Amino acid sequence: MSHSVPLYLDGEFVESQAPRSIPNINPATQLTLANVPCTTPTEIDSAIQSAVKAYNDWRDVPVPERARLLMKFCQLLKSHQDDIAETLSQETGKIFADAKGDVWRGIEVVEHACNIPSLIMGETVENVARDIDTSSYLQPLGVCAGITPFNFPAMIPLWMFPLALACGNTFVLKPSEQDPLTPIQIAEIFHEAGFPKGVLQIIHGDGEQVEHLITHKDIKAISFVGSARVGQHIYRTGTDHLKRVQCMTGAKNHMVIMPDADKNQVISHLVGSSVGAAGQRCMAISVAVFVGESSQWLDDLKNAMSQVKPGLWNEEDAGFGPLISSTARERVLGLIDQGKQEGADCLLDGSDFQHPDYPEGNWIGPTLFANVKPEMSLYREEIFGPVLLAVQVNSLEEALELINNNPYGNGTSLFTNSGGAARYFQRNVLVGQVGINVPIPVPLPFFSFTGWRHSFYGDQHAYGKQAIRFYTETKTVISRWFHHGEEVQGPNLTIQMR
Ligand code: NAD
Repeated sequence: MSHSVPLYLDGEFVESQAPRSIPNINPATQLTLANVPCTTPTEIDSAIQSAVKAYNDWRDVPVPERARLLMKFCQLLKSHQDDIAETLSQETGKIFADAKGDVWRGIEVVEHACNIPSLIMGETVENVARDIDTSSYLQPLGVCAGITPFNFPAMIPLWMFPLALACGNTFVLKPSEQDPLTPIQIAEIFHEAGFPKGVLQIIHGDGEQVEHLITHKDIKAISFVGSARVGQHIYRTGTDHLKRVQCMTGAKNHMVIMPDADKNQVISHLVGSSVGAAGQRCMAISVAVFVGESSQWLDDLKNAMSQVKPGLWNEEDAGFGPLISSTARERVLGLIDQGKQEGADCLLDGSDFQHPDYPEGNWIGPTLFANVKPEMSLYREEIFGPVLLAVQVNSLEEALELINNNPYGNGTSLFTNSGGAARYFQRNVLVGQVGINVPIPVPLPFFSFTGWRHSFYGDQHAYGKQAIRFYTETKTVISRWFHHGEEVQGPNLTIQMR
């Protein structure tokens, strides 16, 4: 019988008393790895209460001490990187090298959080008026909550709680119900690093548990990563309850290919960025916009894509793994069918791909459509599968118009050898993360992850300096110290001009 994924409550790993659970399924074999309990309301309340209690002490732990604990956590994560990646591969289907990348990108955020003494510095101006000084401090908010998606079960939880904790908050995490074993393994390492009990809590479940969390009176801030549909709901509900909310959401990322670009670079980067991780990355390239004569490269692109084979996480020649669930596979197959019906040219069709040893896996092979039009459902919806759409346009201006009319603004990329084209593109495109000859422009953690438009709801983005602002409140102190024997001026009844 499969075991129940433990909760992490008040510094202990405990079994939930929940009557309802969701199976955590290996997407290649369909074997149940564990049961994910849908945490009861009492358990959620007790997680939050324990986080409130832990906050009272944690906020007073000196900043360098908090940094030292994070350094220990970071060092342990590095030494367990392969073990975590193996768990991650089992429950997501990601190939091992990609799973290691998922863990590594999270570790880099923890490294960034170790710089908290410099990151949390306030500002000071001496003598803003005669004998008066002003300082601002960044103080923690209290208990923060995080809700994470299935596609980066190591990296995205690590975008959130290490920085929130570094700032002096405590944290309740609700990871994706589709792959919670990776975040629990990370919590075991966190536990080993010696943090005080209660500063991090992990509960499990789906929308029902999220609802309880985001409406709870003691939750001060909510970080969410997931689809735009759920993100909109969380943003509205959270702000209605007067909480601070940041939602990193869905995407439709375009790569524009100018005729002067290096063809071999274009093809190699397009293949990797579209079908890598089975296209289940929020920064995956899902639309290739060929400008002018560059569309002649479509045949070479098709040939290169057809060389990539899905496979098991530890198979040497596997390019990517299965989709996360049979539901996700059915959805993507439905969109592929609709694309054919709506008149797009399917140049390469991965719908029938089956792994010879694991025919029940959620496989879809690399798929390429040409002559895609903006009104087609293939173009309008986020596909989240190994499907690349090719659109042909006549000019860079036309490419820009297409991208700027798309509701999403997470990432985009331009391949060119022209500095002028690159500058025009980066200045005028309404997308928050732009790559110039870089297909997936994900910033390192000392910058922030800056999606725009329907790819983000909120004000302050994930990680970088913006996360420090998100997880803190600014307090401004204006002070004056009197010298001995100073003359008392009498009450002042007007606003003073300085
Ligand atoms: P999802 O929105 O289905 O789920 C995300 C989280 O929300 C999960 O923890 C889930 O349990 C919870 N949830 C699901 N339905 C809910 C509801 N009705 N009410 C409240 N909570 C609910 O997303 P997913 O399928 O796990 O992840 C893929 C999506 O995440 C894609 O859209 C992708 O673009 C997006 N994503 C965005 C970024 C980014 O930084 N912008 C990064 C990674 C993934």
